[in-house]
Formats: sequence, C-alpha cells, structure tokens
Amino acid sequence: MIPVTSFAGKTVAVFGLGGSGLASCHALKAGGAEVIAGDDSAERLAEAAKAGFITADLRTVSWANFAALVLTPGVPLTHPAPHWSVVMAQQAGVEVIGDVELFCRERQRHAPDAPFVAITGTNGKSTTTALIAHLMRVAGHDTQMGGNIGTAILSLEPPRMGRVHVIEMSSYQIDLAPSLDPSVGILINVSEDHIDRHGTLEHYAAVKERLVAGVQPQGTSIVGVDDGWCRDIADRLGRAGRRVVRISVKNPLPDGVYVEHETILRAAGGAQSEIARIGGIGSLRGLHNAQNAACASACALALGVGADVLQNGLRSFPGLAHRMEQVGRLGRVLFVNDSKATNADATSHALASFPDIFWIAGGKPKAGGISSLTGYFPRIRNAYLIGEAAQEFSGTLGDHVAHEISGTLDVAVAHAARDAEASGIADPVVLLSPACASFDQYRNFEIRGAKFRDLVTAMPGVKPVV
Ligand code: ADP
Repeated sequence: MIPVTSFAGKTVAVFGLGGSGLASCHALKAGGAEVIAGDDSAERLAEAAKAGFITADLRTVSWANFAALVLTPGVPLTHPAPHWSVVMAQQAGVEVIGDVELFCRERQRHAPDAPFVAITGTNGKSTTTALIAHLMRVAGHDTQMGGNIGTAILSLEPPRMGRVHVIEMSSYQIDLAPSLDPSVGILINVSEDHIDRHGTLEHYAAVKERLVAGVQPQGTSIVGVDDGWCRDIADRLGRAGRRVVRISVKNPLPDGVYVEHETILRAAGGAQSEIARIGGIGSLRGLHNAQNAACASACALALGVGADVLQNGLRSFPGLAHRMEQVGRLGRVLFVNDSKATNADATSHALASFPDIFWIAGGKPKAGGISSLTGYFPRIRNAYLIGEAAQEFSGTLGDHVAHEISGTLDVAVAHAARDAEASGIADPVVLLSPACASFDQYRNFEIRGAKFRDLVTAMPGVKPVV
C-alpha cells in the first residue's frame, strides 16, 4: 500500500467505495488523514464501516471541513452531468481528485525521479500495459502494475528509485489527476468511444492529450500517429519542444518507431534499425497488437531495456485473458477466446488475424450488428450463433457464410470443434469473438470467456498452447 501523506491531519471525503475507493480510504488513513466514506449503496457503506471507516450520507454533512473529495472514476465528473457530490464539492470550494492524483502527489514528495509509465488510448490499454510490465520484469526491474488494470494504484508498493510503476489510465482517471506527470506517457490511439461521458470527441481527445502533455520535462511521450487526433497531438508536443516518439503500423516514419512486415523498426536522423520481430508471436497477432507492441517496445527502449532482452520479452508475453487468448489445441485445431470483443469493431481485429475461422458469435447485440464485418466473411468457414443476436446475425450472414443457430455456447463449441477437425484445413481456428455484450447469458465477458475455456479444456485430447 502507498500511504498518502499529503492529507495528513486533514479530513477527506471519499465517494465510491469499490476496490479503488476502499484502497484510497486505507491509503489516506495510513498517511494520517481522517476519511469520511460515502456511497449510494448501503452494502458498500456497510463494508467500509466494517473496515473501520466513518461512513456518512455525504448529502447531509457539512463540506466546510473537507480538504478534498476523492472520487471514484466510475462517477461522472462532467458528462452527462456532474454527480451531486461533485456539485457539492464545487459549491464548498473543495477540490475533486482521484486516486492517481494521490499517487502523483506522493511520488512528487518522496521519489520524483522514480520511473512512472502511464498508458492511455481508446483501445489496447490493457494489452500495452501488461506487455510493458512483462518487458520490464523480464529485464529484471522491480515492477508494479495497476490502475485501470487489476490492482488499484494505491494498493501497489510505494514509488522509489529503481522501481517502475506501469499504470493503465482511463480518460476518467486522467480527468481526476490534474498533476499527472509520468516519466513516460503513452497515448496509443483515439477513436470514437465513451463520448457519452465526455460530451464531444474534441473533449475526449483533449483529456487523453493531458496524459502525454503532462510528461516530465526529461521524460518521453509516445504517441501512435495512425489517427488524425493523435497526429495533431504529437505535432503539438513536438512544437512545444517535447521529446516525442511517434508510432505507426500503417506507414514508415522518418523519425519514430514503426512496423513493417511484422518487424518493429526505429528511424532517426535518416537511419533505420531493426528493434524486434513480432511475426509468429501468438499473443501479439494482428495489426492492432503490432501497434501495442510497438508502443511497449518504444517504452522499454526509453527505459534502457536492451534489444536482446526486448526480443525475448516480446516472445514470452503470455497475452491477456479473453483477448485473442489461445486456450488450447486439439490436433491442428487452435481454440481462441476473444470474449472481450463485445462489438463488431473489436471482433474485426480477431477475424483479420486468422485465415480459416470457425466463428462463435452472438449474445446481446449492439447497434449495427455485424454488418460492418462483411469484408471478413470469406475467412469464415462456418459460424455458430448464440444468444439473443442469433436470428439477426443469421440474417446478415445469409447465403454468404455457412452457419447454424447453436443457441448456447456448449453446443457451439462442440459443433465448431467437430467441424474444424473434420475440415481437413491445415490451421483451422475455433474463435469465440462474439461482437456482442454477454448480459443475455452471462454476467460479464470474463465469465463468458471462462466458460469457453472450461468447455475447450474439458474436451478429451486438448493440449495447452505452449
Ligand atoms: P483496452 O484496455 O483499451 O480496452 P485491451 O488491451 O483490453 O484494450 O483490448 C481490448 C480489445 O480491443 C482487444 O480484444 C482488441 O479487439 C482491441 N484492441 C486491442 N488493441 C488495439 C489497438 N491497438 N487498436 C485497436 N483495437 C485494439
């Protein structure tokens, strides 16, 4: 845990008592602050009270004595409308911050030179974060990973020289961290997403920009320049005299890190050099993962990791669960769990990554369905449709793709495995990439993916992928 000393002797309101909120309560208390904990859920309030915190209905208390409101990132700060706790804080002149801000203030006080990598982007945040942490561990560094991925930031070990913090950040967390100043800041990409919580794409991109604009003067900003928003951001940073490493998987760059023929290259001063090869690395399949790998490699290089270690680290990256996760092999048939793909755009990356696919799709459909995926239909040998979306998807596949309505995942897995084995194709893939939310049949995508994994590994003869 990281004791938060910047509020010692003061009273702090914490609203939102999920994992990161409770971690904030503990960290503030350990640093000598008094915490008043609030939540809309009676269950969460009871849990905080049981953990020894003073709980209150923050609507009915005086805000005059609060030094800050620590808000959980799940609660709206601005859009569609500020949460009532934000309004009350603003009326009382109380600053509204998040747990990453508390971390930044501790680091500034006690270890301002400790390496701190912050990662954001519309897509690929978790993969890039996990890959960087993996690379740093392979290189022998004491590495702490958390934030939007896994462990709450204040539950990690404190920053100190020689220990690197690798922190995934959502836009909401950036919004709540006004003094965010990583030593390496990474913005992977910006595309339309979560506009409901940010009002406009302009505002969303501006929030993302803050992560790389806040990088310490001696630090490095890494920006994926394959979309227009990020190109503009990289140019602004460059004009401001910042050290920017541009990343592209679409075009060779005169200055930056780019990917060509599954090789990551670095260009500077008119010369190019090969950094690493990613061809044949199962956990980094697809152009989207090439973008993640290039960002992570640029970060590792900025932190002094050598080329050999980098190549070994990329090769040994196990990948993340539910994101094109290779869960097993039955003879030639590879089984891939991409349960995290809850919309057609995410599924397009998986479909683009394999030539011969036995595709399991469906669930609770999203607007637009799978009509944007027609370009990938020639890769699909057979489709197995499940959940509420089955009829709609069947209509879109029509006569273009052979398919069946399997209804449930167990039937789909059994039929897809049978057909893939019997197909005679050299490298068939049974792919769960639903292009749908899971809520019609499963509580979340993790449970859906775990069910797929269980069904696959229970089949006689299935071997883990080495
Ligand atoms: P995030 O943490 O930003 O949600 P993840 O690393 O968890 O991203 O990946 C989630 C899904 O997003 C993946 O399954 C893949 O479909 C897609 N994805 C991953 N990386 C990228 C990228 N660089 N560009 C576009 N899509 C990506």
